[in-house]
Amino acid sequence: MDNPFEKALALIEQAAQIDPALGGEFLARMRVPDRDIRISISTRMDDGSTKIFEGYRVQYSNARGPYKGGVRYHPLADIDEVKTLALLMTLKCAVAGIPMGGGKGGISLEPEKLSKAELERVSRGWVRKLADVLGPAKDVPAPDINTTPEIMAWMNDEYMKLTGEKTGATFTGKPIEVGGSEGRGVATGLGGFYTFLGFREKLGLPGKCRIAIQGFGNVGANAAEIFSKHGHKVIAVSDSKGGVLAEGGLDIKELLEHKKKARSLAGFPGSKNITNEELLALECDVLIPAAFENVITEANADKVRAKAVLELANGPTAAEADEILQKKNIPVIPDILANSGGVTVSYFEWQQNLAGEHWSEAEVFEKLKKYMSTAAKDVLAKSREWKTTLRMGAIILALERIRAAM
Ligand code: GLU
Repeated sequence: MDNPFEKALALIEQAAQIDPALGGEFLARMRVPDRDIRISISTRMDDGSTKIFEGYRVQYSNARGPYKGGVRYHPLADIDEVKTLALLMTLKCAVAGIPMGGGKGGISLEPEKLSKAELERVSRGWVRKLADVLGPAKDVPAPDINTTPEIMAWMNDEYMKLTGEKTGATFTGKPIEVGGSEGRGVATGLGGFYTFLGFREKLGLPGKCRIAIQGFGNVGANAAEIFSKHGHKVIAVSDSKGGVLAEGGLDIKELLEHKKKARSLAGFPGSKNITNEELLALECDVLIPAAFENVITEANADKVRAKAVLELANGPTAAEADEILQKKNIPVIPDILANSGGVTVSYFEWQQNLAGEHWSEAEVFEKLKKYMSTAAKDVLAKSREWKTTLRMGAIILALERIRAAM
C-alpha cells in the first residue's frame, strides 16, 4: 500500500470505525474527489523551443464552500500526490472552521531550471487551461511549495484578463499591491505558533522550548523567526541540502542572510553542520517538520527524541511512524490543525477582495489567533470525546462538519 492516496483513505476509514456516523454512503462519497484534472501546458522556452509540462488540479469537495488549496511546483508532483493533498485540504478547511472546500494543484517541473520568463509563461498556461473551473465562487488556488506571491499575481492577472473578473478573489497569497492580505506570508508559521501556545502547557512542555525545524522555506523560516522572537531556542534547522545545529540557539536573521549569500545553510558561523536525518533525531522539546510529506517514517520514527511533534508540512508523518510515535508517547499536533493558519489568512484575503476592503496586520493577526485557538480547542475536545489521538480527533471533527454540510 505505497500509494499516498490509499494511505490517506485509510485514515478516514479509521475515523469511520471510531464514529460509525461517518461510514456508509458518506464514506463512499469522501473516498472520491469531485474532479481530478490533468492538463498539458505547452510552453515557449527562451531558446524558441516548445516544452510540454504536465499540470494538475484536483477539486476534492466543495460541500463547505469553494474548492481551496495551493498549487505546487515540483519535479515529483503527480496526480496521486495532488489528490492526497486535496483531501487533506478538505479536512483542513473544515478543522479551521472556514467556509471553504478542498482542492490542490501542481505542475511537474524543476523551478530552478526555468528562467523567470519561462516560469511566468507556464504559470499563465496553467490558468488558461483551467480558467473554466476556477473563480471566487468555484475554486480559489494559493501558493504551496515553490510557488510565490509573484506567481499568484501572474496567475490572477491571467484569470482576470481572460474572464473579466473584477474582484481579484480567484487566487490568494497575492502580493499586497495586487490585493494580497497583510500577514499572509507569515500566516502558516504564525498559525503554527498559536497552535503550539494552545497545547504547550497541556503537553507539559517548558516555558522556553528547544526547537528543531526541518525545512527553511516560507513556512520553516517564518516559524523559526517567530519561535525565537518569543524566547524559544531554535537549536537546529535544515533544508533539502542539510542543516545546522547550535545548542545555544541559532540567530535566525543572520542565518537567513548567510543562506542568501552562501546558497546553503552549511558553514554558518558558530554552528555545526548536520544531516536531515540527524536533525530528526535531535534531543529537543518540539520537532517541527516544515517541508515535505513522509519525512518521519517507519525507518527513523524510533530515533525521534523530541517531546512533541508540530506538523507544519502537509503529511510529514507516515502512518507507520505515527504508530511508533504514539507508542513512544510523543504527541503529534497534526498538519490539518497546525498548518491551517495559511489557508485561514487566505480565506481572509478572499473575504477582503470580495468586500473591497484591506484589513490591518493587527486585525488579521487577531482574527487568525481566534480561529487557531478555537480550532485547537475543538480538536482537543474531539480527541477526548472519542479517546483517540489529536490527529484522529481532528479528522473526526472535520468529517463531522463536512457531513453536516452535505
Ligand atoms: N498551500 C497551503 C496549504 O497547504 C495554503 C493553501 C491556501 O491558502 O489555500 O495549506
